[in-house]
Amino acid sequence: MRPWVVVNVAMSADGKLSTRERRQVRISGSGDFARVDRLKANSDAVMVGIGTVLADDPSLTVKNLDYRKERISQGKPEHPVRVVVDSSARTPPGASILSKGDGPRVIAVSRNADPARADALRAKATVIVTGDTEVGLASLLDELGDMGIRRLMVEGGGTLIAGLDREGLIDEIYTYIGSMVIGGKDAPTLADGPGWIRETDFTQLVLADITQIDDGVLLHWTVKRS
Ligand code: NAP
Repeated sequence: MRPWVVVNVAMSADGKLSTRERRQVRISGSGDFARVDRLKANSDAVMVGIGTVLADDPSLTVKNLDYRKERISQGKPEHPVRVVVDSSARTPPGASILSKGDGPRVIAVSRNADPARADALRAKATVIVTGDTEVGLASLLDELGDMGIRRLMVEGGGTLIAGLDREGLIDEIYTYIGSMVIGGKDAPTLADGPGWIRETDFTQLVLADITQIDDGVLLHWTVKRS
């Protein structure tokens, strides 16, 4: 059974996830940070694309100690399983996602990945091989489901989210909209990649909730299934 997929991103008022140099920026404040930490603690796994690992070097750990203790008391690992979508096995062995915090890691690579690099990652993570030249996202989700992952949080970036959207794999989206304009036509957005052309193909959403947090607003969407 595939996991329930929840995308969470913070974007500027003009819809950018970071700068055109793909440099990580602070878009939300402490209130939204706490919400994201709770969402993460409630997830079985957290996924990012290799672009985000190389740009931001996130650890994707749960920061709140009470949430960590709660997870352990529920028989779960202290942090959710951390998953990187990385066709060519480019995840640096010293990346924070592999070194910070206890708990399992998964690196998903394609059959085209350099075997030596994939082997080096096997020392620190479970390596799942799927797809010829890029990671097969649907079969990856199937494998994560087989590992017992029921709820998957996706933390970006825009290329990975677009890939999941193209295959109809997203169930819910949280977009936090911060109070700034970043600008730049090449700055990442929620769903990059080639984009849809025909209106009939657009992913249709249902607005579930709107909440003001800090100086911005959180939109909670569910994906409409046809
Ligand atoms: P990304 O979405 O993190 O990673 C994309 C990469 O994943 C692809 O280039 C591809 O690289 C790999 N991939 C493998 N199989 C794929 C598939 N089937 N579909 C899609 N991707 C696949 O990278 P990004 O778009 O460059 O985003 C990074 C930027 O987003 C950074 O600037 C970061 O700061 C920002 N960001 C912002 C937020 C936020 O909430 N504001 C959150 C996360 C990231 P390979 O071909 O090498 O595998």
